[in-house]
Amino acid sequence: MELNQLTIHELQEKIKNGEVSALQITESVFSRIDAVEERVHCYIRLMKEEALHAASKADDDIKKGDIKPLTGIPIALKDIVCTKGIVTTCGSHILHNFVPPYSATVVEKLTAAGAIYVGKTNMDEFAMGSSTETSWFGPTRNPWDLERIPGGSSGGSATAVAADECIASIGSDTGGSIRQPAALCGIVGMKPTYGRVSRFGLIAFASSLDQIGPFTKDVEDCAIMMNILAGYDPKESTSVNAEVPDYRQFIGRDIKGWKIGIPKEYFIEGIDPEVTAAIKKAITVIEQGGGQCVNITLPHTQYCVATYYIIAPAEASSNLARYDGVRYGLRAADVRDLLEMYRTTRMEGFGAEVKRRIMIGTYALSAGYYDAYYKKASQVRALIKRDFDEAFKTCDVILTPTSPTPAFKIGEKTDDPLQMYLSDIFTISTNLAGIPGISIPCGFTSGGLPIGMQFLAGHFEEGKLIQIASAYEKNAKNEKRRPAL
Ligand code: GLN
Repeated sequence: MELNQLTIHELQEKIKNGEVSALQITESVFSRIDAVEERVHCYIRLMKEEALHAASKADDDIKKGDIKPLTGIPIALKDIVCTKGIVTTCGSHILHNFVPPYSATVVEKLTAAGAIYVGKTNMDEFAMGSSTETSWFGPTRNPWDLERIPGGSSGGSATAVAADECIASIGSDTGGSIRQPAALCGIVGMKPTYGRVSRFGLIAFASSLDQIGPFTKDVEDCAIMMNILAGYDPKESTSVNAEVPDYRQFIGRDIKGWKIGIPKEYFIEGIDPEVTAAIKKAITVIEQGGGQCVNITLPHTQYCVATYYIIAPAEASSNLARYDGVRYGLRAADVRDLLEMYRTTRMEGFGAEVKRRIMIGTYALSAGYYDAYYKKASQVRALIKRDFDEAFKTCDVILTPTSPTPAFKIGEKTDDPLQMYLSDIFTISTNLAGIPGISIPCGFTSGGLPIGMQFLAGHFEEGKLIQIASAYEKNAKNEKRRPAL
């Protein structure tokens, strides 16, 4: 195996034993990038020179015995997290030249943990999408089949891990943007509880739903990343001051006696039969491991997509009002007055999907419609959250498919926004309820595309997700495949 194919914990061992250097690891990642990135396009910006420099510095630290959890580990960042002095685009023309004056808290934390940054990854513009096709920088391709999408909006971060163009990466999840691409690329992705990871320095899409989380090659790496990312941040008003456990302690524990809720509303018509078959097989593995599957109901599930597509665009229309050509990024040239400058900047700077969301959101918030749409959606959201509160009285975790289908073809859904929105049918409820979720691989279709399943738990119970995901990973003994590329 090449170094770039290994996990964080495998590399940590090798670094500690003096078997490999940070420079060797970083070089192996960049030689992989040289070989495949042109076909995959998961990065908007590569930071090779900085990375090699950081790697030789890491090697000095290693020699001194100063080894932190991510010392020498190449990490990729979704281009939605601000990096001080480094262009941060959010996949948009309007921010194509935006240089943040500060770094996101997660970046500060990763840096303090020793991470080496490979680059900034591609994404749907302002994280609005499920396929990474709305990026101003062009689409990312699924490493398992270059004709297909990698999922979205964090498609670049998922692909970078799946294609071994980094060891782990950071994404953001507003309605499924970590879990759905993780499923479609055959890797692990976690959306933590709302408030668990600081959003300071995350470019806002829908502030009551956004959360940052990791993409990794296995569940243990997810625990390692969560140990670094989680925790209270005084700079972020929605970050919660609750104790953070050592997530690694949940690795390798069994799930004997656990009740796993199977919600009937998530096994509906229209799911790809190969996805259903893979989940059924996974259920058998979980039962053999001592878990007991119980039928549960989440009665308001049918309203999730509609509720999300009021709340998320409404918050987006308000958040994106700040891009006026004055304070950030693009400013239209050759304009006569201020109003024309605003209009032309926004017309030229935003893509079609972002404009669609701004229009939907502005409409939903406008005088006379607010009660009918936004207020109503907020009330339904409370019911959706209550469904989960009730369900967790009878089960420890919930199991669902992550996505109704495996990766679809590039261009297949671009002309049909509603079909695109339905890709998130199983992931959106999590964000509306503010609970944590994880997607892990559970097999392949006959055509060789990865399939993912999702576990959900109560607020701040990421540890349970890691425990069951790790137990499944161990018991399933799924064959380790890598994309051919
Ligand atoms: N695909 C969903 C959307 O388009 C979710 C995106 C996300 O989680 N950022 O809004």
